Amino acid sequence: MAVPFRRTSKTRKRKRRTHFKLSVPGMVKCPQCGEYKLAHRVCKACGTYKGEEVVND
Ligand SMILES: [Zn+2]
Repeated sequence: MAVPFRRTSKTRKRKRRTHFKLSVPGMVKCPQCGEYKLAHRVCKACGTYKGEEVVND
């Protein structure tokens, strides 16, 4: 098994983790009710997609 030759410094570790971030992709406001919803998905607040009601609850 390969073993690291040098200890990873705090700076190196932190620099590597700059690419490690949380992202909430594709959040848009629903044109119908104004709730935040995922893009290209049916709005779960009002059940519409492209201005048409597709989910009845
Ligand atoms: Zn909606």
